[in-house]
Amino acid sequence: MRLKESFFHTRQVLAVNNIDNAPLEGELLLRQTLKINRVQFYQNPAQQITPEQQDILQKLLERRLNGEPSAYISGYREFYGLDFYVNNDVLIPRPETEHLVENTVSRAQKHRKLLIADIGTGCGIIAISLALNLPQAKIYAADISTPALKVARFNCYKHGVVDRIKLLNGDLLEPLPEAVDFIVTNLPYVRQSELDTHSFEPATALDGGADGLEIISRLCRQVNGKLIPGGCLLLEIGQGQREAVTALLDSLFPTADIEITPDLNGIDRVVSMTLPR
Ligand code: GLN
Repeated sequence: MRLKESFFHTRQVLAVNNIDNAPLEGELLLRQTLKINRVQFYQNPAQQITPEQQDILQKLLERRLNGEPSAYISGYREFYGLDFYVNNDVLIPRPETEHLVENTVSRAQKHRKLLIADIGTGCGIIAISLALNLPQAKIYAADISTPALKVARFNCYKHGVVDRIKLLNGDLLEPLPEAVDFIVTNLPYVRQSELDTHSFEPATALDGGADGLEIISRLCRQVNGKLIPGGCLLLEIGQGQREAVTALLDSLFPTADIEITPDLNGIDRVVSMTLPR
């Protein structure tokens, strides 16, 4: 069979099985099978696919049809223009988290020297994209999950930032050895009742307890002493959580300045709180 025919067939199977964006998903599975990039994929439609390659493709396709996300099948997901290794010990990076990074970069750019903590780092996307965009920063990246930290370590090596990011194992801000200028975090914030029980992603990375805010609230209560005067806490939040989170921060830090940034869908996504100097 030729690449063109195989691509057509793969797309059809995906579409019939209600996989969104079947052409892109089909392309990714075929490229993974043939170990080729996008240009090579579209340049050689007449390329022959061997029976062995057909078998590999079939296995990948079955995993996808079984509901496994394509990022876990390929082992990669792009975030902030960078490629990250992922497996099912970590949450798959979401595009909305780019707002958190962008917001932090624009606030931190003017600092000549700075310390940042990424809490619940998962595969390390926040810490690593900040390290690459803020060359003056030293970063702590903490996670309670040891398997997640292994993935983060791999990505630190992949992106050449292993000397600038110190990985810490522990609960929220507890492992942080000193106060920092920025605490940046995408903690689990999905309501327990809204968790997808068939998800391949680790529930610990999504489960925010009964109201979705149990972990965020716990972190907010630990901030005192871990953020320097004038320092900034940046939290990713879910739809409808703005009021509760700002009310909590207001009660804990009545003199702080709070700002909200929406995502591209207009959903309030980032809460930033700056402490007075
Ligand atoms: N935005 C993610 C989702 O809805 C949730 C991420 C998180 O809990 N931090 O799947």
